[in-house]
Amino acid sequence: MSSLAPTLTFVGGAGTVTGSKTLLETSAGRVLIDCGLFQGRKKLRQQNWEPLPVDPASIDAVVLTHAHIDHCGYLPRLVTQGFSGPVFCTEGTRKLAEIVLPDSGHLQEEEAEFANRKGYSKHKPALPLYTEDDARASLRLLEPVPFDYAETLLPGVEATWQHAGHILGAASVSIHLAEQDRRVVFSGDLGRSTHPLLQPPAPIGPADVLVTESTYGDERHPENDPRAAIAEVINETAGQGGVVLIPAFAVDRTEIVLWYLDQLVADGSVPDIGVYVDSPMASRALSVYRTEARKGSPEFRPEYRGHELFGSITITETRTVDASKELNQRRGPMVIVSASGMATGGRIIHHLANRIGDDRNAVLLVGFQAPGTRGDSLRSGAKQIKMFGHYHPVRAKVSSIALSAHADQDDLLDWVGSCTPAPEIVFVNHGEPEGSNALVAALGSRLGVTAVAPRAGERVRLDPRSRSDFDY
Ligand SMILES: [Zn+2]
Repeated sequence: MSSLAPTLTFVGGAGTVTGSKTLLETSAGRVLIDCGLFQGRKKLRQQNWEPLPVDPASIDAVVLTHAHIDHCGYLPRLVTQGFSGPVFCTEGTRKLAEIVLPDSGHLQEEEAEFANRKGYSKHKPALPLYTEDDARASLRLLEPVPFDYAETLLPGVEATWQHAGHILGAASVSIHLAEQDRRVVFSGDLGRSTHPLLQPPAPIGPADVLVTESTYGDERHPENDPRAAIAEVINETAGQGGVVLIPAFAVDRTEIVLWYLDQLVADGSVPDIGVYVDSPMASRALSVYRTEARKGSPEFRPEYRGHELFGSITITETRTVDASKELNQRRGPMVIVSASGMATGGRIIHHLANRIGDDRNAVLLVGFQAPGTRGDSLRSGAKQIKMFGHYHPVRAKVSSIALSAHADQDDLLDWVGSCTPAPEIVFVNHGEPEGSNALVAALGSRLGVTAVAPRAGERVRLDPRSRSDFDY
């Protein structure tokens, strides 16, 4: 291999949906595209402790597609290991990273402390991967870049952020290598064209090489409008003076839930019974969404630019633990939106413990529930669930609707199809093997493009294939 040929190395997010990290190496230097944390099973999380294939201090710049932890949550660790270059991202990503990264550091510290107390860590004492202070220090490297603007990463290497419609700030990143006149586009996480608040994913335009996520590469989301189902839950529960509990991810999912409630109240389908947003992180993210919409951010659909979001509903945010506890005494009807989305932790557990035994109340699940979570048990009709060491009988009515911030197989094919002319090759990563393999097959059979799911650690060249490949 020519030492000057630009290459990609699939460091993380290959064969799994977390830990997104792809290394771009050119004669001008090294860029890491996304800097995600491995999450989920212990075996995956342990990979966060393994060294990167290159010295972090030798990386010149980081490019972030969006602020989900599986795409940016390794950044503080990269910095504590010597990285000190710029971290380019959109303004929305910077604002959300300022919320989620310190929180992630705090959780790492809590986990280490818990492991020390229980004495189950291999490390003695157990150490956090990084601390809240490390996370705050890493935020200083963030450099916001406008959408659709070509930023120079290295001499001869420019990147442009394009709308991905996934969460606020989320982008696909198109990188141009001047020396070879080659363009490689990274999808980041793609949203759906149906995101009610955000602009749909932008067409790719020209590219030679694509790197696409495949989280739902083997799935098709149902197309039904959830409005009727949400209205039924609200009306039935409100009629009997009950409380609707909605476990929701703090960033973006909470805004989508509020959008539906706002629409239903505005068109008279449900009464405005009052919505309590009870999650500090959700409140902070909500304020970022509200500010960006008010400012007229081009990320929002035109009808929301320059407007106050959710003007038809009465939203109360609980700012303190005491205010959250006071909700326990409050009688219905009302809606409580609280994290976490799969009821694995957070304040929603207190509300479930307090309310789930009363048949006037309702629980509305609004997204994917991973196997083994309380959300999954509830969705499967469990008659009791365990919280704080006690089993609680499930008497509240449990309903489930599908709200996804992720592209499904058809959306992913549409996105790849927006590359004109067709790319030479599509690298399919950021998916479980079933998702990635299904998308590889669909890209071949439905679009006729060459697609490969790279192995973790695999390196490929980005220069054009040449005659010299065939010389002996
Ligand atoms: Zn994401």
